[in-house]
Amino acid sequence: MTKIKKVFAREILNSRGVPTIEVFVETKDGVFNSGVPSGSSKGKFEAIEIEDGGKRYMGKGKLKAVKIVNETINKILRGKSVLDQKEIDELLIQKDGTQNKSRLGGNVITGVSIAVCKAGAFYSKTNLFEYIKKLSGNKEKLFIPRPFFNVINGGAHVLSGLDFQEFIISPKLKSFPDNLAAGCEIFYKLKDVIKKNKIFAGFGDEGGFVPNIKYPEQALDLINKAIDLTGYKGKVDIVLDIAASQFYSNGKYKTSFKVFSPLSLKKYYLKFISKYNIIGLEDPFSEDDHGSWKEIVKNMSNNSFMIIGDDLLVTNPRMIEKAKKENLCNSAIIKINQVGSVSEAIEAVNLCKQNNWKVIVSHRSGETNDDFIADFAVGVGADFIKTGAPNRGERVAKYNRLLEIEKLI
Ligand code: PEP
Ligand code: MG
Repeated sequence: MTKIKKVFAREILNSRGVPTIEVFVETKDGVFNSGVPSGSSKGKFEAIEIEDGGKRYMGKGKLKAVKIVNETINKILRGKSVLDQKEIDELLIQKDGTQNKSRLGGNVITGVSIAVCKAGAFYSKTNLFEYIKKLSGNKEKLFIPRPFFNVINGGAHVLSGLDFQEFIISPKLKSFPDNLAAGCEIFYKLKDVIKKNKIFAGFGDEGGFVPNIKYPEQALDLINKAIDLTGYKGKVDIVLDIAASQFYSNGKYKTSFKVFSPLSLKKYYLKFISKYNIIGLEDPFSEDDHGSWKEIVKNMSNNSFMIIGDDLLVTNPRMIEKAKKENLCNSAIIKINQVGSVSEAIEAVNLCKQNNWKVIVSHRSGETNDDFIADFAVGVGADFIKTGAPNRGERVAKYNRLLEIEKLI
């Protein structure tokens, strides 16, 4: 029987020690769960997380969200078939009735939608990634997306240090296991390089190193040194997530080493893009500074360089359509909880593909051990998957699931 008997939730901690929810969908044959992630450098138009407020966990408790699942969602979904993913997601959106999912909660809808999807795969007697492939209408041959390892952390994911948020390496060898091994070897070597330079200051939220340095070029030099020492020169690309909304105010980009005008920041990027092996910039400008996005896309339009929208798009199909119309970017980060449901995230991916954009499925800085995004990335046919450094269980869980999937496709 594919019918939902009960939907319930409990409060658990995410990888930052902040409460989130784990949602359970129960049928006659089993219980299917989902752990909900949470961002810290969030886009303005992301789906809202329902939080408790008050003193407990400094306002970040999720007991209200648990109650919404146990009472409202349970009532809405009891008796529905887990195979009706689209209908269920549409029903949740309709019952929420807000632009930003603030009534039922983006966190509630994400957890329920993913748990229903896992149950649907079970009853379809297919692997989760195959079920998602079918849901998304993906007709291409399945492959493992190339990994983005965020090996040096900055911005909102660290206590202090670099203003740019993520320094990412993406090996481009023949297979996923080779790419994973290369990413890990470079990560180990980076540890040695940082140790030798006596600049270790800790790890960031996504498991990457936080070196005690000020300039982005220093981070890129450390990474290149590690790449050289491991013998992967020419076989690894670099991507930066600038997360520029975080240091934008009053028309200026204020970093710890310089205050940039939008134009001077663009010039700065163009200089180091050509010096280092950088193939993409994520959120190079604030989500409010559309003029600068247009300019950098114009500058980079002759090649395959990726101008990646994250905060800019928040996985929202309407925002993706707008960005396409205005030519603001040519690639997109996809985070299910930014928009809410699995169906909306699939719609977002399909729009990006119609635009001929590159698709990068992504974790959040606050994660759980749920590895759903590995199956999602493979199923929808994403070009890349970004799920942190090969360090910390909640990041490695996704890479390990990709290793498993690699044997099944
Ligand atoms: C990001 O900005 O791409 C990211 C993963 O960070 P967060 O989850 O904090 O938004
Ligand atoms: Mg980002």
